[in-house]
Amino acid sequence: MKLTVIGCWHGYPEPEEATSGYLIQQDDFSLLLDCGSGVLSHLQRYCPLQKLQAVVVSHYHQDHIADIGVLHYARLIETKLGRASTPLFIYGHKDDERFDTLAYEPYVKSIPYQSNSLLDVGPFAISFLKTKHPAPCYAMKITNGQKEIVYTADTSYFLGLASFAKECDLLIAECSFYKNQETVGGHMNSQDVGILANKARAKQVLLTHLPHFGERTSLLTEVKESYDGQVELASKGWSFT
Ligand SMILES: [Zn+2]
Ligand SMILES: [Zn+2]
Repeated sequence: MKLTVIGCWHGYPEPEEATSGYLIQQDDFSLLLDCGSGVLSHLQRYCPLQKLQAVVVSHYHQDHIADIGVLHYARLIETKLGRASTPLFIYGHKDDERFDTLAYEPYVKSIPYQSNSLLDVGPFAISFLKTKHPAPCYAMKITNGQKEIVYTADTSYFLGLASFAKECDLLIAECSFYKNQETVGGHMNSQDVGILANKARAKQVLLTHLPHFGERTSLLTEVKESYDGQVELASKGWSFT
């Protein structure tokens, strides 16, 4: 199981970058978590578009779904060119009506996921936990039966998230603000992430959904005040195997 960061910015992409997008691959299966602005362009460095089999979206804020529309067109064109022969599957929650915008028949099909049931996607099993965010949003735990990756998606800190992430191999944690900053909009600051990582006893932490201001390396120091494991800042192309 290999994870590659496609995009890691909060709200909008920096030049030549993307907002939320994480590629998880095993054998010949490629799964994308979230599909934010700029993701489709940068994804192609790591996965030909016709090889992408599935997308799971955490919620319907634009920095997580902005490129779904052009992904529809990509699958249409790849199919017409004879390079893709199967539909792409996009999984999303049905807590609001935006679910209906995920499908683009017959090239892209949408399938709802539920927080109380395990979702099997290729070689991966995914479980979900509803987060604390203004729009309904789900954290995800992805496993191949050997390793566990937890992605917080967008959320403020809550204790249940630490239980959900218990002893995961990699915690991909949103870190939208610095220590002592107010976490407006349902997000976590570096102190929240440190507490989360410590309580969860996560084996490794990747900070993502990064702020467009401040000295981002100080997020690492601030997280380490509560957590003594390995912490890194997400960047385009960062990978975990
Ligand atoms: Zn959001
Ligand atoms: Zn976001």
